[in-house]
Amino acid sequence: MRKVIPYGKQSITDDDILAVTDVLKSDFLTQGPAVTEFEKNYAAKMNVPFACAVSSATAALHIAYQALGLGVDDILWSVPNTFVATTNAALYLGAKVDFVDIDPLTFCMSAEQLEIKLKNAKQSGTLPKIVVPVHFGGLSCDMKAIHKLSLEYSFKIVEDASHCVGAEYDKAPVGDCRYSDLCVFSFHPVKIITTGEGGMITSQNKDLYEKVMMARTHGITKDPATMVASSPAPWEMEQHFLGFNYRMTDIQAALGNSQLKRLDSNIARRRAIASIYQEAFKNLPIQVQAPLENAQSSWHLFPVLFESSDMRRHAYDTLKTKNIFTQVHYIPVHTQPYYKNMGFKLGDFPMAEDYYSRCLSLPMYHGLTDDEQDFIISAIRTLF
Ligand SMILES: *Cc1c(COP(=O)(O)O)cnc(C)c1O
Repeated sequence: MRKVIPYGKQSITDDDILAVTDVLKSDFLTQGPAVTEFEKNYAAKMNVPFACAVSSATAALHIAYQALGLGVDDILWSVPNTFVATTNAALYLGAKVDFVDIDPLTFCMSAEQLEIKLKNAKQSGTLPKIVVPVHFGGLSCDMKAIHKLSLEYSFKIVEDASHCVGAEYDKAPVGDCRYSDLCVFSFHPVKIITTGEGGMITSQNKDLYEKVMMARTHGITKDPATMVASSPAPWEMEQHFLGFNYRMTDIQAALGNSQLKRLDSNIARRRAIASIYQEAFKNLPIQVQAPLENAQSSWHLFPVLFESSDMRRHAYDTLKTKNIFTQVHYIPVHTQPYYKNMGFKLGDFPMAEDYYSRCLSLPMYHGLTDDEQDFIISAIRTLF
């Protein structure tokens, strides 16, 4: 029997291990110079002035929404085809959430559906304060169209780019925030690069950046320039609002820094794997994610659609017997029992539900070998 092939897997090198042990021997364990260096390198990579490292993407979403002033009387919209964290983070702030259906070809937020929903919401006085496009699998949403709508309907944009480290949109890195207020990344081990647990917020807006920097450490400032006290003593610090302990540790940041150095080869490998899958499925009844013309995916996932949910189940089970572990992304958030209790029901977002009933994420990661990919592809051919 072959060893297990998962749908996603981290890559850890000797250099990564060395970077972490160096921190363990240093004076700093939690937030210190390695975090600052990671933020600096990350911002440079994303071509953006500001980056704030935090303990997870969930934490990042929470304080990004908080920085934009999301509160109890506000509404946030995202897509059902995401991890629950995207909208849960709005519920932490007491806000209401609603969803926009996905595009059946890109599996990302549909800009057309967004526009229709905005028109209706304007009539009923239920416009969202924040819209959160999720770049599914690593493919950017149609940010130009969404940004244009944000100007017309005055909402803020937080990109959930958890899948998207190393992706491009309009020949520039996703994360440069040209079409958004804030952009959030995840460094969970199944994502593109990892810090064990971790997240990052990027922005072009200094004011929002300063808010999230304070929010990750209890809403506290130690910068005399921003203090209420006119001549603070050297030990003084001030808490200005209710923040959290969402700090990243230096141990994690050192790993992140080391992983970031291999980002380009990681993405190149993922793109090579993706094009082999795309070629192999051309003559099979399998739908692959249709790219936007101006977007280059980072290929966190390689999602495919089968013709029926029975066929998807057959594929999932058969591949599993060959030790190929695929996964389903995502159970539509609005169909979770917790969300159903808020009034959402099956049928509310038919595209996302249809997608969920037939989708499968195939193995996709930096360390997947050619031999393993051949094995996966022939296993899939035998399904038909
Ligand atoms: C993984 C993920 C998150 C949460 O990331 P954590 O770092 O585990 O908190 C949020 N949104 C999306 C789309 C994700 O894939």
